[in-house]
Amino acid sequence: MSQPDCLFCKIVAGEIPADVVASTDRALAFRDIDPQAPVHVLVVPREHHRDVAALAAADPQLLADVVALGQQVATDLDEGEFRLIFNTGARSGQSVFHTHGHVLAGARLGWTPA
Ligand code: 5GP
Ligand code: ZN
Repeated sequence: MSQPDCLFCKIVAGEIPADVVASTDRALAFRDIDPQAPVHVLVVPREHHRDVAALAAADPQLLADVVALGQQVATDLDEGEFRLIFNTGARSGQSVFHTHGHVLAGARLGWTPA
């Protein structure tokens, strides 16, 4: 269930290095290469699903596992409160089509998406 040219499948497989902060048997958390907040971690399922809607339809429990890993990261690296963003589709800003939640924390966050 991996895709040959997918960047995050390669990170999951260990073929491309990443700063991994937490992992489970089904999900991985690693720091974003271009952080937008003091804590900016990506949480991904190990299996390839193109976006969060596809993941929710295919395997709701796996989506729940990804969310739980985000909560764990926010608790381990900050105070447990966090924003979780799933860009879905290019127009929303999605650039890597292996679903990932952006866990943002570590500061009082602004709200200026547009
Ligand atoms: P999207 O724009 O698809 O919602 O988020 C993709 C995220 O992946 C971006 O925030 C970008 O900074 C991050 N990213 C892109 N390439 C890499 C990489 O090679 N390693 C890591 N750790 N993050 C990456
Ligand atoms: Zn993938």
